[in-house]
Amino acid sequence: MKVPFVDLKAQYLSIKGEIDVAIRSVIEETAFIGGKYVDSFERDFGNLYGVDHVVSCANGTDSLYIIMKMLGIGSGDEVITVANSWISSSETISQTGATPVFVDIDPNFYSIDELLLEGAITSRTRAVIAVHLHGQMCEIELIKGICDKHGLYLIEDCAQSHFSEFKGKRAGLFGIAGSFSFYPGKNLGAYGDAGCIISNNSSFADKCRMFSRHGALKKHQHQIEGINSRLDGIQAAILSAKLPHILNWTSMRIYNASLYNKYLSDIPQVLIPRCRPDSVHTYHLYVIRVKKRDELMEFLTKSGIETSIHYPTALPNLPAYKYLGKNPDDYPVASSMQSEILSLPMYPELTEDQIQYVARTIQEFYA
Ligand SMILES: *Cc1c(COP(=O)(O)O)cnc(C)c1O
Repeated sequence: MKVPFVDLKAQYLSIKGEIDVAIRSVIEETAFIGGKYVDSFERDFGNLYGVDHVVSCANGTDSLYIIMKMLGIGSGDEVITVANSWISSSETISQTGATPVFVDIDPNFYSIDELLLEGAITSRTRAVIAVHLHGQMCEIELIKGICDKHGLYLIEDCAQSHFSEFKGKRAGLFGIAGSFSFYPGKNLGAYGDAGCIISNNSSFADKCRMFSRHGALKKHQHQIEGINSRLDGIQAAILSAKLPHILNWTSMRIYNASLYNKYLSDIPQVLIPRCRPDSVHTYHLYVIRVKKRDELMEFLTKSGIETSIHYPTALPNLPAYKYLGKNPDDYPVASSMQSEILSLPMYPELTEDQIQYVARTIQEFYA
């Protein structure tokens, strides 16, 4: 049996008619950049997600950068982010001219350790980027409380947490703005690069829109210098075609995670992911913790099972951050976990047979 890490083709085939019509319409109407497909995706995503303003942009890295630029973050400032994430969560801080400050993850839920957050705040700190990694939300209420107490902006990186919830409230709705990626493999994925910013603050959303469109909300009226970060019409139409299915696909991920939990629960060498109480984990990734990770990974590969590591090197341990002068002991949890974590195949269309096969193969490895 073959179990790919993700199967984007399976999803395409399940809605091929809708996708093909969407793409053809954009081409026939030559609505390539901006225009009605982009407008309607922004409106429909906002309605479904429950947020007033959606500003589409080119990808989920730009969205973080745009948010920080429009908060006035720059040289001399510090922004706190998490030690285990995709590099977008920190490189965008540097892009503004500010300095990234990493905080270790907590050993239970693998998100920024809220108990270490206050210790990282200095007189230069301007904002905190809370990354809801794997589809699991951070302890966002506590983090929000700390931000409010110290007068810091809270930015949420929701690239892996579309429709995740904490106490009934969705990711991206706790801080000044939420940043989303629609990279093809994300829970809601385009067929190329795409992203957006969500916010309930209309003047802030307008600023982000202006900056991402060369500093002009109306043609040739450049109020500021901006950047070119727009969503393509084809990507918007594809995303709109997927929207009616996204809640169902999210439930399927959650169901598949419950099957993994069931079939993996009696393998003592495997630590299954824990879901934070009062929250909805949307399982962008299903991450287990194991001993002999690299050997297991190789064994699974040989058995036709594709796995991945998110991420093999904690951010502050990367060569890119050598200049910060930190060492792995400064981030003991993230540093020790980088050799134990393993992401198993996860996507809505995964079958129970495939999940059982993965679990059986892992059991075989440890037997
Ligand atoms: C994917 C991702 C991003 C960036 O998204 P792109 O659309 O690829 O630029 C940012 N943060 C996290 C946590 C991600 O997983």
